[in-house]
Amino acid sequence: MKITHDFHVHTHLSVCAKDSATVQHYANTAKKLGFNKIGFADHFWDEKCGEPWNNFYKRQGLDHVLELKKELEGVDFGNAKVYFGCETEYNPITKSPAITPAVAEQFDFIIVPNSHTHMMMPKELYEPYENHKQFMIDAYYNIINSEVSKYVLSMAHPFEAVCCPYDNEILMKLISDDEYRRIYDSTANKGIAVEINTSGVKNDKEAILASEKLRGFRIAKECGCKFTFGSDSHTDAGHDEYASVCGIFADVLGLTENDLAEFVR
Ligand SMILES: [Zn+2]
Ligand SMILES: [Zn+2]
Repeated sequence: MKITHDFHVHTHLSVCAKDSATVQHYANTAKKLGFNKIGFADHFWDEKCGEPWNNFYKRQGLDHVLELKKELEGVDFGNAKVYFGCETEYNPITKSPAITPAVAEQFDFIIVPNSHTHMMMPKELYEPYENHKQFMIDAYYNIINSEVSKYVLSMAHPFEAVCCPYDNEILMKLISDDEYRRIYDSTANKGIAVEINTSGVKNDKEAILASEKLRGFRIAKECGCKFTFGSDSHTDAGHDEYASVCGIFADVLGLTENDLAEFVR
């Protein structure tokens, strides 16, 4: 199946993204790859949820990310419908996503990671690995059971600990099939999708077949979860192998249109 959406792109408004990640670049990409839909998801922290836990978010408030709406005006995306979303953060103090319902209403969709542990987890939890794994599981349940859960389109890069000082597949290996089943049963019940994030994934079927994250996705599918795809692009090179990598994931997981979240079809 050809994937014709991307619901996880960052523009230059994300402080970790490159200046080359412009709206015009993504418009060109959407046309080149024949997208039906594209969803912008800059990093975001709603100031109404308290002081950002990490300085990174001091420049990622509402007025800042709303700038994108002006930048999108009049830009031709070809056949692709454009969605204004955000990748909001998990707030470890309130144990919920850093976004209030009223502000969530202002976005077309939100995605939330449980795995930005490089910014959101106390460093002492890195080891033993079991503590790091448990932090992500607790964050996951807190997100899907939060008061904004109905606004959450998808769980961004689930259990893929970002900038982990060791191989983050070690952590995924610690999650048992039964734990995954409980997690993804609850996810399916909530109508929240699971993101297949292609960032850092090699365009190599054998490598994808050998990757630990495939086990989680397989169980998510068995549990009836729907999926979204996201490049997590932060530069003008974020889609170089996107179509091919998405195709491999869709193929090895046996995905059909029905396995995609309705919102992204
Ligand atoms: Zn992320
Ligand atoms: Zn991202």
